[in-house]
Amino acid sequence: MSRPAAYSPWDDLARRTGVDLRWHNGKVAKWERPLGVTHFADLSVSLLVGRPEHSLRSTLTHELVHLDRGGFERSGGKERIEERRVQRAASQRLIDPVLYDLLIDYMNDSDAHFAVAGRILRRVLLVDWRMFQAYADWRKGVTLKTAMRKWEQFGPDCLPAWPAPWMASKANHLAIQHALDACEAARA
Ligand SMILES: [Zn+2]
Repeated sequence: MSRPAAYSPWDDLARRTGVDLRWHNGKVAKWERPLGVTHFADLSVSLLVGRPEHSLRSTLTHELVHLDRGGFERSGGKERIEERRVQRAASQRLIDPVLYDLLIDYMNDSDAHFAVAGRILRRVLLVDWRMFQAYADWRKGVTLKTAMRKWEQFGPDCLPAWPAPWMASKANHLAIQHALDACEAARA
């Protein structure tokens, strides 16, 4: 079976015309040193400085899924639900289902120590623990075949639609209008 190369959030970010990547090292809005924040109003993503690659990859993918889905209500438990959906979608893009299954078999067979399992996760799957957990939760009720279908939706040659569909309804915001214009110009 030929396998698609993995999704790269850095490549995905690079072709998102109008999206600004920033770095922070302190408070952002109401959060104290958050790993990542997406600002929908000016289409920027801010990442915490000094994090290792597996953490940056996980956080950036999470923020890009936010950008795909658009702004959301934060009241009445809706934020928690949206965050869970976003994290799950990010994990489906990042984690190769075949590698995941091999890793789980290995860990079950070898009673790998928790710390060793953590290192394997970082090195092999290149994701952080929270991303792994979101994926593991989803995979409990899902076959390899279904997981493969999700995984194959995104790869180097098939990235999420950009501009994202929600942006058309927010074209009165200056940054979004600029991004839409720049995307249009890039296509022409
Ligand atoms: Zn989030």
